[in-house]
Amino acid sequence: MDPPPPLEGGLRVKPAAFRYHRAESIEETLDLLSRFGDSAKILAGGQSLVPMMNMRLARPDHIVDISRLPDLGYIASEPDRLRVGALTTHDVIERSQEVRRALPGMAEAASLIGHWPIRCRGTIGGSLAHADPASEWCLLAVLVDAQVEVRSRSASRVVDASAFFTGFLSTNLGPDELLVEVRIPLGQRRLHVEEFSLRAGDFAVVAAAVAMRVEDGLCRDVRIALGGVDTRPIRASVAERMLEGAPVNHSAFTQAAEAAAAVIEPTADIDGSVSYKRELAAVLIDRSLLSVAA
Ligand SMILES: Cc1cc2nc3c(=O)[nH]c(=O)nc-3n(C[C@H](O)[C@H](O)[C@H](O)COP(=O)(O)OP(=O)(O)OC[C@H]3O[C@@H](n4cnc5c(N)ncnc54)[C@H](O)[C@@H]3O)c2cc1C
Repeated sequence: MDPPPPLEGGLRVKPAAFRYHRAESIEETLDLLSRFGDSAKILAGGQSLVPMMNMRLARPDHIVDISRLPDLGYIASEPDRLRVGALTTHDVIERSQEVRRALPGMAEAASLIGHWPIRCRGTIGGSLAHADPASEWCLLAVLVDAQVEVRSRSASRVVDASAFFTGFLSTNLGPDELLVEVRIPLGQRRLHVEEFSLRAGDFAVVAAAVAMRVEDGLCRDVRIALGGVDTRPIRASVAERMLEGAPVNHSAFTQAAEAAAAVIEPTADIDGSVSYKRELAAVLIDRSLLSVAA
C-alpha cells in the first residue's frame, strides 16, 4: 500500500499524515477494514486514538471514522443481560434509566471515567478495544464475564472478556474486525467500583470492583476484580474463594482484601511503588465489599 501523500497546502498538524474515510454503514466499515488491514485504525470517540496519534505513538495510514454510524449507539435491556452498542458513549450509559434500573453500579462506574466532555465523546466499544488496564469498562467486563460481539466482512464471533484482553493495550481483535456490541450479564448481584486517581478525571492508579449477592447474611457469587495492577484487569480469585459463603463481616472483608493485594505484581512507576499499589488495592477492595454488602 502506498503511503498517503502529504496534506495539501503544506498544512502541518500534530499527527502523521493519514487518509480519512467516513463510513456510512457497518458493511462499508468492514469493507474498508478488509481493504486496508493493519494500516487502518477505527476512529470512534477519538478520546484515546487522537492523543496517541498526536504523540505519534499511533501512525495509521488510514482512519475509518465510525462515529456517525447510525446503528451502534443503543442500550437494550433484556431479562438476563444488557446489550450495549459499541458506539454508546460513557455519558449515555451514565444517564441511562435502563442501566440505572438493571445495574446501578454500572452507571456509577461510568461517572468515574475522565471528565464530562470525554464521557460525551468516548464510547464503550472504543474503551474495550483500547484495553487500558485501568479502564472502568475493561474492569467491569472482566468482573461480570461480559461478552463482546465482533464482526469482520467474512464472519461474526462472540468473545468472552477473559479471552478478549491479551495484554497491555492489546486485545484479540483482528485488524479487519469491528467490535459491535457488549453483553453484560445481570444476575441478582450488586456491584460497585472504587478507585484512586491522583487528580479528578485522571485514569485510576488502582481500581477495584466487586459484585456479589448477600443471602441470609452470607456472601454469594463473589466476584472481585482489580485494574491498574497488571497489564490487563485481573480477578482476585484468592479473595473470591475466601469470601464465598462466608458471613458478611468487616474483618473477613479486610482479610480477603489483604490476601488479594499480597499476591498481585503491580509495576512501580511515576504513580507509586509496588507496596503503595498493593496497599491501595487492599483498601479499595475492602471499601467496595463494604459498599456492596451495605
Ligand atoms: C484526559 C483523559 C482522561 C481519560 N480518563 C479515562 C478514565 O478515567 N477511564 C477510562 O476508561 N478512560 C479514560 N479516558 C479514555 C476514554 O474513555 C476513551 O473514550 C476511551 O479509552 C476510548 O474510546 P473512544 O470511543 O474515544 O475510542 P477511540 O479513541 O476512537 O479509539 C480507541 C481505540 O479503539 C479502536 N476502536 C474504537 N472503536 C472500535 C470498535 N468499535 N471496534 C474496534 N476497534 C475500535 C480504535 O481504532 C483505537 O485503537 C480518558 C481520556 C482522556 C483524554
